[in-house]
Amino acid sequence: MRSDPQRLRYEVRSRDGAARAGKLHTAHGPVATPAFIPLATTAAVRGLDTDEVAALGYEMVLGNTFHLFLKPGHERIEALGGLHEFMKWDKAIITDSGGFQVFSLAHGNVADEIKGRRGNAGNHGAILEIAEEGVRFRSYLDGVERFMGPEESMGIQAALGSDIALVFDECTPYHADYDHTARSTERTHRWLDRCLEWHEREGPARQAVFGIVQGGVHEKLRRSSAERVSEAGVDGISIGGTLGRDKAEMRGVLEMTVPLLPVDALKHLLGIGEPDDLLDGIALGIDVFDCAVPTRLSRHGVALAPLPDERFRMSVRSRALEDDQGPLVEGCPCPACVRHSRAYLHYLARAEELTAVRLLTVHNLVYLERLVSGARDAIAEGRYAAYREAGLGGAPPWVS
Ligand SMILES: [Zn+2]
Repeated sequence: MRSDPQRLRYEVRSRDGAARAGKLHTAHGPVATPAFIPLATTAAVRGLDTDEVAALGYEMVLGNTFHLFLKPGHERIEALGGLHEFMKWDKAIITDSGGFQVFSLAHGNVADEIKGRRGNAGNHGAILEIAEEGVRFRSYLDGVERFMGPEESMGIQAALGSDIALVFDECTPYHADYDHTARSTERTHRWLDRCLEWHEREGPARQAVFGIVQGGVHEKLRRSSAERVSEAGVDGISIGGTLGRDKAEMRGVLEMTVPLLPVDALKHLLGIGEPDDLLDGIALGIDVFDCAVPTRLSRHGVALAPLPDERFRMSVRSRALEDDQGPLVEGCPCPACVRHSRAYLHYLARAEELTAVRLLTVHNLVYLERLVSGARDAIAEGRYAAYREAGLGGAPPWVS
């Protein structure tokens, strides 16, 4: 790890068990942690303007290197003033390296795998060759052959001007065997060095770089990856790769991995962020989370709700809501819940009105923002274990 306050400074302000609350200082302002990071994959949090995202209390969003590379192109964004200026967001931006999307071309969408649902792991085109140099693939947009390797990914992220860049990593699916995962983890480590060398030479002085710990579900590989990334000159650490088949296995992999990382490092869990994942991850000492869940669910007419038996989800399209005059989720301070009835939201969702997607996105983002801000308060007051327990049991996040 390196420490360069010009790029990034992470300050732990309170600890409660392994959980901690603090402040991450970036070139575009502070981020209170634990934090949830909404996805702005294609330079927009779908359905919302950036001032609306800021008004919900968010201080950082995640942009995607792969998608912005293909459209509208990083050179164009750079010429238009960089990603902050392009989307008129003056707070922090972290950019994903594109590794996950590129490798999902090869491995497809593994539906029963937790990490397979990270980002828009859908049809992204076709892989042509995976080599030490990088990955050749065909764009899903126009069929044109493109190439991305460590230097290209860092170059794109430098052009975008994000506050935090992620190194280019090779992502292996859950069903990869030990040897495959070991070889791919070693390549990820060689690529880590190439990313850091490129960035040292040509990267923006105020852009931080996070390393990514891989190793799948294998303790030996996670351990060697944790050591390797911790010894590199990175500014923070993301935990990537497959975490298993289900939540129990994911918890096991995280319980084993997090203690292997330097205690003072900012820890980012890639692509995970359902309410119970946040509560459990924070308890293990994870500081920031990004996930497609709140924005993707809204497009499917689903609201987050304090319903542990229903995976914290409520289908707004359910016929049971057709004549219900009550609020979507009792006590929720978001506009959808304060102003509108379940019946109205049900009608909008069934009619596939854009307004339904917007209102549900706002609700889901408010829900997760309340969950993490409640966690910050609970950690500061030394009652995080009780907060987590209550949340997992179905206490709404605004009653903390
Ligand atoms: Zn609400």
